[in-house]
Amino acid sequence: MNKAFFLDRDGVVVKQVHYLCDPEQTELEKNVVTAIRRMHELGYLVVVVTNQSGVARGKFTMKEVEAVHGKITQLLAAEGEKIDAFYICPHHPEYDGVCDCRKPAPGLILQAADEHGIDIAQSIMVGDKLSDVRCGINAGVKASLLISTGYGSGEREKPEAAEVLFVNDLKEAVDKFA
Ligand SMILES: [Mg+2]
Ligand SMILES: [Zn+2]
Repeated sequence: MNKAFFLDRDGVVVKQVHYLCDPEQTELEKNVVTAIRRMHELGYLVVVVTNQSGVARGKFTMKEVEAVHGKITQLLAAEGEKIDAFYICPHHPEYDGVCDCRKPAPGLILQAADEHGIDIAQSIMVGDKLSDVRCGINAGVKASLLISTGYGSGEREKPEAAEVLFVNDLKEAVDKFA
C-alpha cells in the first residue's frame, strides 16, 4: 500500500487568489518545492484535493482549472518535482446539488486512495481551512494539519481550531513525519 500527503491547492500549494483560473497568477507557496521533494524522499505520494466551486458557479471552466494545474506541474517540473495526482470537486450545493466530494466530505481522498492504492490511515492531510482539516478527519487520515499560509492564520483564531495541529509551512508539516 502507498501512503500520501493530501494537500489542499489554494493557500497551500499555490498562493491564495480569489477564484484562481489564470496560469499567469499561479505562484507556488513558500517552501513547497523543498517540502514536496522531502515527501517523495520519505516515500509519500503527493495528491492535491481541491474544491473548485467556481466551475459550478460559472466563474471558470474545468479547462481553466486544468490550465492552472498545468502551470503548477510546469513550475514543479522546473525544480525536478511533481504532484502525483490532482482531484477536483467542481460542485457547489446551491448550483448543482449536494455531492460527496466537496470538502469537508471525504470523497476526493477516498477516490484517490482507491485509484492509487493509498492507505489513508498512514496518510496526512494539510489545508488552510478547517473544512480541509475536517475532510482529512472524515476520511480517516493519521493526521490532519492546518497551515498558516492562505486563510490558515485566520482559521486558527476560530474556537473550533483549538484542538487542531498547526504548522507554519509545508516544510514544517513534512518534517513532523520524517
Ligand atoms: Mg485553500
Ligand atoms: Zn463535488
